[in-house]
Amino acid sequence: MDQKLATAVTGERDLVLHSWCVQAEWDAPTIVGGRGAHFFDAAGRGYLDMSSLAECSNLGHQHPAVVRAIREQAERLCFVTNAWGAQPRAELARLLLERSGFAGGRVYFTLAGADANEHAVKFARQASGLPDGFVVTRERSYHGASYAAMAWSGDARSSGRGAAFGSLKVPPPYAYRCPFGTTDAEQCGARAADAIAQALDAHAGQCAAVLIEPAAGTNGIVAPDNYWPALREITRARNVYLIADEVMSAFGRCGEWFAWQRYGESARPDLMTLAKGLTGAHLPLGAVVLSADVAQRLEHEMLYTGLTYCGHPLACAAGVAAIRAYADEHLLTRSRRLGAQMFDALRAMQARVPGVGDVRGGHGLFAVVELVRDRGTREPLAPWPQTPPGLRQLVARARDAGVSFATRGNLIILAPPLVIEENDLADALALLERLLSQLESS
Ligand code: PLP
Repeated sequence: MDQKLATAVTGERDLVLHSWCVQAEWDAPTIVGGRGAHFFDAAGRGYLDMSSLAECSNLGHQHPAVVRAIREQAERLCFVTNAWGAQPRAELARLLLERSGFAGGRVYFTLAGADANEHAVKFARQASGLPDGFVVTRERSYHGASYAAMAWSGDARSSGRGAAFGSLKVPPPYAYRCPFGTTDAEQCGARAADAIAQALDAHAGQCAAVLIEPAAGTNGIVAPDNYWPALREITRARNVYLIADEVMSAFGRCGEWFAWQRYGESARPDLMTLAKGLTGAHLPLGAVVLSADVAQRLEHEMLYTGLTYCGHPLACAAGVAAIRAYADEHLLTRSRRLGAQMFDALRAMQARVPGVGDVRGGHGLFAVVELVRDRGTREPLAPWPQTPPGLRQLVARARDAGVSFATRGNLIILAPPLVIEENDLADALALLERLLSQLESS
């Protein structure tokens, strides 16, 4: 490593405050480049990315068309505020409304996922005439790290903040360890949806929105198939806005443009929030997509919000190029096909490796592997949300072998870029099985 790079690496460790970790323990290679599903460190080592970094690099790294679009937009116009029009901003809004079928709706652009959720709730409260209305969210969810988004999240890292920001929490549709005591996935989905109906009824006329991740999530819940459609019926019957947090689940991650689309038109939410895959993480960008009904209610009222960089032209140009790439390269179909292969391989692995308690996902390139000490009793490998030391070691060994896996507690979250090569995917899963078998015998 040359001297300049070596100094930069030391700087990163000593000078930057890093997310979600103990600073003194942070120690990671410096990444200097990427291509497809791989990225490369300063020492010239390559890593196959099995999590799309933070489940965001859906298009792989350095997608040429997105990089080109950013460069071309930068040469034309880097920035103009919302007080003026910007061609890529309007174009991206049009594409999002088209792909989601939110005809007559509008798009509000943010910088990332947390502020998209904050704004979605703000709009739902304004449109419902309940400025302090409750927001129903669930345990084992994640909506971002701003104060309000943390309060709405059912995340162990922000527990204790539940009562703030009008949050009402309900148990999750966690079929493997169902909080309603059933072992039947459909029943668990139905009971979890019913818990939302009960929360809304107990606070009738006081709830502005239900904010839920429809499918994928960092806390490892993949809801049974009856959950989202039931939620839609329950919220519609009570005139409460349903906000789909699609920050992780959209843009092919769950095999569709937006995960709720798998359940058909009747499952359409009133608002949905986006980020991550919106630009394939090439630039930071979030969005709230509002249905025609919500947009109409705001049409003649003052909108009391604003972000300096709302709809930044560079980020929007990246978004336009990203959406074209998903379509032109048929990445949704690819995600469905490779996602099914990955799911089958993981299920086969589960049959061979006793420590694999549960495998969930399978709609698109997203799956969760839950590790247990004992498959019969389902005793977790470590109490949630602790990460078992063996799993830390597994991640380190995989990294040494050139594969990057993401974990959370007892979970391995598999979400590779949609462009991953089939042989790379197969090799990574074979490595995972070898390492899991070693974990068993250690
Ligand atoms: N919502 C979901 C479902 C997420 O997975 C995340 C991030 O992981 C967020 C919101 C927050 O997004 P951001 O980190 O861009 O603020």
